[in-house]
Amino acid sequence: MEKHAHARQMKNLLAAIPATLIPGDGIGPEVVGATLRVLDALGSPFAWDIQQAGVAGVNSSGDPLPTATLESIRRTRLALKGPLTTPIGEGFRSANVRLREEFQLYSNVRPVRTLVPGRYEDIDLVLVRENIGGFYVAHEYYVPIGNDPRAVAVATGVNSRDACTRIARFAFEYAVKNGRQKITVIHKANILKALTGIFLEAARDVAKEYAHRVQMNDMIVDACAMQLVLNPWQFDMLLCTNLFGDILSDLLSGLVGGLGMAPGANFGDGTAIFEAVHGSAPDIAGKGIANPISLLLAACLMLEHVGLGNSALQLRTAIGKTLNQDNVRTGDLHGNASTEQFADAIVRRLQTD
Ligand code: ATP
Repeated sequence: MEKHAHARQMKNLLAAIPATLIPGDGIGPEVVGATLRVLDALGSPFAWDIQQAGVAGVNSSGDPLPTATLESIRRTRLALKGPLTTPIGEGFRSANVRLREEFQLYSNVRPVRTLVPGRYEDIDLVLVRENIGGFYVAHEYYVPIGNDPRAVAVATGVNSRDACTRIARFAFEYAVKNGRQKITVIHKANILKALTGIFLEAARDVAKEYAHRVQMNDMIVDACAMQLVLNPWQFDMLLCTNLFGDILSDLLSGLVGGLGMAPGANFGDGTAIFEAVHGSAPDIAGKGIANPISLLLAACLMLEHVGLGNSALQLRTAIGKTLNQDNVRTGDLHGNASTEQFADAIVRRLQTD
């Protein structure tokens, strides 16, 4: 008996997949803690290297993106990340933006699916967001005039044809691999003719290569925002520039119950970082009431990424049953379970089903 247990342990050790774990700020440590407990119950293969970033990084080593954290991700090429807060004040760039640049995580995939019946039923959408260009690079400066050192503010957006082609190809490949039928390219090419026009142009070129496999249409971002509220079922996948993707993915999360329900995955060549779409939610941090589903679903995406689709399915099923059969829900979903109680309920489901 002991021998078997030992063999199992050895097998687990050999199969362990090194991955970086960043608890993050605000509700981060709470939802990360819940996710770890659930992953343990699932028998997940990840060997975590715990590192800090965001405000926690500043507190531990004076940098929102400490060298040790970067080195860990360089080694593991795989991370699960809690939300990071950018410290307010001059001199600190967003650790999220820096991470994306450092590892050239050019694509951000944000799927949303109905898990609890609510305002909308049967939502199943994937947003692909260009992750390192556009206005989000935040190349900004002020122009002083007279006594006012900040008389004029200027922001520059940058989109290269290469980068637009790369993200479009990623989206079409994703569609083919995941059985998606249609991609709607989101832009504002009537006004930002160069910055978002080049994005649309590149997507149209790439679409030709996939002509008989994936349909493509396009929509101006403001019209898309309205259409997503009126008739979200007309969409299958959205391909967005950086800033529009940031905004619309929060809207998408609203279709399925809010920010507690929306996972995200950042992919570059050879590195992947998984996270919740939401931020650190300082208003509820430390209260133990955050919904951990976004990060749990991010963990599902991570399991799929390492080839453990069955475990991901098992976890998604357990989340669905916990919500709809056991009726255990956190406050944002009009329930009264704490983060911990919700995680306990999922663990029970995983152990009994
Ligand atoms: P950021 O700018 O980093 O996106 P933010 O403060 O603008 O951060 P979030 O932190 O994403 O926005 O959250 C907005 C609000 O949504 C929070 O204040 C909180 O009330 C709610 N919220 C976000 N995530 C969760 C969650 N996991 N569970 C419950 N409520 C959440």
